[in-house]
Amino acid sequence: MNEITTDFDLDCRACPRLANFLDAVAKDYPDYHARPVPQFGVKNPKLLIVGLAPGLHGANATGRPFTGDYAGIILYEMLYKFNYSNRPESISSDDKLKLKQCRITNAVKCLPPENKPTGDEIKTCNVYLKNEINGLKKGTVILALGGIAHKSVLRALNLKQSEYPFGHGTEYHLDDKLILVSSYHCSRYNTSTKRLTPDMFENVFKQIDVLLER
Ligand code: SF4
Repeated sequence: MNEITTDFDLDCRACPRLANFLDAVAKDYPDYHARPVPQFGVKNPKLLIVGLAPGLHGANATGRPFTGDYAGIILYEMLYKFNYSNRPESISSDDKLKLKQCRITNAVKCLPPENKPTGDEIKTCNVYLKNEINGLKKGTVILALGGIAHKSVLRALNLKQSEYPFGHGTEYHLDDKLILVSSYHCSRYNTSTKRLTPDMFENVFKQIDVLLER
């Protein structure tokens, strides 16, 4: 299992609505992780990927970000293709998958009802993302998947949302330290509606390769 790097509380109940929802989910699905989902990946990544939140039958079930649902299939295939991992798929938190130069996290660590965290929940959980981003080395690329992840990164860095609008393929050099690249989220909805095509997603990883001189 890859190393977890930042302070993280698996028993966090700072968002009462989410904590209560997870209690109910744990009763319905006793085999599920059904707790805050920690980061997955290496200690000093060159690439930090930020998603939105665990999915009910994905990360919330397996305890690893983007594992067990449709979005994860696409993401882990792409990570393998671009040599960020030793396997093209992530099956469970105890498979042999290892990430290289990369770590994956979520803006909100607990499963939200209908995949929709409230503004307050996003704000509350931002403390974990902030800790994580503060520990990144100069030159690290942050890939935000979707608008909420994008805004959460800016919030963690105390940057104005209006100065860094979200868009697919946007690239911002932040404080001469970190580079924020954003993409439409690789969700089933976005891919089935062709809002995000495989080529579009691959081009984002090519863009990151250039930035990281890989
Ligand atoms: S979403 Fe984050 S802050 Fe809220 S309860 Fe879960 S881990 Fe804690």
